[in-house]
Amino acid sequence: MDPIPFPQLSHEQENELKLNAQQWSLSNGLVMYPPNFETFQTNVAPITLFPTPIPKTSFQQALNVQKIYNELYINLITKHKSWLIEVLEELAKFDPNFTGKLFEIYKESIKDEVLQPISLGIFRSDYMIDSNLNDIKQIEFNTVSVSFGGLSTKIGQLQNFLNSTGFYDNKYNFKYYEDESLPISNSIEKIAEGLAQGNFYYNDKQENEDTIVLFVVQPNERNCFDQRLIEYELFNKHKIKAFRATLEEIEEVVTINSDKAYIKSTTQEISVVYYRSGYGPGDYEVNPAKSWNARLILEKSKAIKCPSILTQLSGSKKIQQLLTDHEILKKILPDLSNTDFKELISTFVNIYPFDDSELGKKAKKLAFESPEKFVLKPQREGGGNNIYKKNIPDFLKSIPESEWGAYILMELITPKTFKNKIMRNKDIYNENIISELGIFGNILFNETTGEILKNENAGWLLRSKFETSDEGGVAAGFGCVDNIYLY
Ligand code: ADP
Ligand code: MG
Repeated sequence: MDPIPFPQLSHEQENELKLNAQQWSLSNGLVMYPPNFETFQTNVAPITLFPTPIPKTSFQQALNVQKIYNELYINLITKHKSWLIEVLEELAKFDPNFTGKLFEIYKESIKDEVLQPISLGIFRSDYMIDSNLNDIKQIEFNTVSVSFGGLSTKIGQLQNFLNSTGFYDNKYNFKYYEDESLPISNSIEKIAEGLAQGNFYYNDKQENEDTIVLFVVQPNERNCFDQRLIEYELFNKHKIKAFRATLEEIEEVVTINSDKAYIKSTTQEISVVYYRSGYGPGDYEVNPAKSWNARLILEKSKAIKCPSILTQLSGSKKIQQLLTDHEILKKILPDLSNTDFKELISTFVNIYPFDDSELGKKAKKLAFESPEKFVLKPQREGGGNNIYKKNIPDFLKSIPESEWGAYILMELITPKTFKNKIMRNKDIYNENIISELGIFGNILFNETTGEILKNENAGWLLRSKFETSDEGGVAAGFGCVDNIYLY
């Protein structure tokens, strides 16, 4: 079945839709600070006016594999720890100032007794839908600081409101889309629930409204409302308070007493440290000594980390590449049924190492012979780091060959394009867009024994960007928040 076309509105109708979308967004927190903001003023987040078509089968496939992916990464961390550590040791050599530092802190943190074996993962697996097969293909698996769970619920609510009140219909009377075809992501609810479960397990499986969740955030975070939506849900639903601090501030605001972490000023005990910062070198740059020490203090404390350093590092792009090997996968997920195994591997595209192995040699050839089919990725998170297509050969020539091993070479996925409308501040752009579907997953586990205590889906995110831009970061200014229209 083909999707129905995007709504066709007159100029006046579109203006009315725009005003309603803007005011709904400002009323309900679908917002983001502009660059160089004052804290009292905000903007509507960059969004699509209409939902973007996603085949039901592809969406279902992405939902189905999430818990398998969650388990894959946890089994890797807990049951194949020595192999993971070997890989990370190599990565640390290529990237001593970031991966290396995190790895050092991990080693330091396990020197003495591990005080908190329970660990929380709030993950997001990102896909594009291949235009030929309608299959989902994984872009990357994120294990730290996954964002947009907050705004994703909000845009689903906004588009449902616009649809139900007739703004998508040129006669103002009818719903343009069926209700069932515009599902709303429950990511705010589920991510808050994940943090609440962390709080519950920290307190020996007791509800406790006195312990709090520490949100470790970036200074001057423009996307703070996305985080606040989760914080408010955590309080409204679970009566658990949150405290926000940057890495640089931790030494000043947190104190450790009998291995437990407390907020100095209020003496509240921290049950969960939720990182929405710390995933890239930039997060440690303002005051490296203080920021790295903050990471160590928290890692060693009894608070549950979301994520632990090992969990964060398992999300390296190099690990993603290694996990496309079927033999390795079977070792890590020995009990997976054949059907699930097939479903999992159908989400991979070819990813090559860039080292001296046979596959690595092939990659080096491919990168120079047909770069237009590939993206070259370093071990970095957070957007703006990849090298695309024809820029790959020149880039490689510009760095010493001894550093090539730090990269992976990934086949480009070509998704269908749609002519949706993007609203960014006062402007509406009517251009071809491509979309990336992210599925959130929560997993609570024992990092020492490998026992999985909870493994759940936690909603989704659709992000779209102009077809002409390689990167898709919303906060970085390349993309926008979207939602799905299932067909
Ligand atoms: P980051 O850690 O910076 O988010 P990603 O691997 O997610 O790194 O890549 C950033 C963006 O580049 C993605 O959001 C996507 O838009 C694009 N991209 C990455 N890999 C591919 C790919 N294999 N095919 C097509 N686009 C890709
Ligand atoms: Mg990404």
